[in-house]
Amino acid sequence: MRILIVADVHANLAALDAVIADAGTVDAVWCLGDVVGYGPQPVECIDRLREFDLVAIAGNHDLAAAGAVGVEMFNPLAREAALWTKQTLPESYLDYLRTLPPSTVVGDFTLVHGSLKDPVWDYLVSSDAARTHFRGQSTRYSLVGHSHLPLGFADDALDDGSAIADGDRLPLGEDRWVANPGSVGQPRDGDPRAAYAVLDDEVGVLTFHRVAYHIELTQALMREAGLPQPLVDRLARGR
Ligand code: ZN
Repeated sequence: MRILIVADVHANLAALDAVIADAGTVDAVWCLGDVVGYGPQPVECIDRLREFDLVAIAGNHDLAAAGAVGVEMFNPLAREAALWTKQTLPESYLDYLRTLPPSTVVGDFTLVHGSLKDPVWDYLVSSDAARTHFRGQSTRYSLVGHSHLPLGFADDALDDGSAIADGDRLPLGEDRWVANPGSVGQPRDGDPRAAYAVLDDEVGVLTFHRVAYHIELTQALMREAGLPQPLVDRLARGR
């Protein structure tokens, strides 16, 4: 099977559609949380993902929109966007977001938004965080989102946890690892292109990708929606 792995789509349909086109034919999509929040097209992004055979888990922005967690933990800009999202989504979409589990296991993979220390809020960006995460990992591999940074850590070489570049490949071998594909809709590693990964479980490899998308289109829709200008600006910087 070829499985498209996406995280932190953040209601950015132009980015999501560029990713789907770039990935080519896939058998399923795994979404690592934060389908909504920040971006202007939450309804369209949920609809698009649900056209696929989809496995999805909850991110902090999904739960905030659904009213399942408060927005006190958000910075003022994220809070404003979360409240906009909550007001924009029809009740049936909020109900869908409420059904998303905090983590799930699919075959050899655990999917979780933050980490297994804290599925909703923990940022898995250090070897210490990875060490704690691996203590809770019962599967060989795991996939996380939340930091918006493409990263990988191997359980037997934690200090070598490293940033991942376009085209990098992670083999499905004996080693336990955790990887973050990066963010589709709001990259934060200085590269504004949408980030994603494709898992090919027959070849036995996870491949990381970047693809350019029509950033100005998403920015125009954000302005139209009245979303905060700093959130509009950051898309062009990838920060
Ligand atoms: Zn996010």
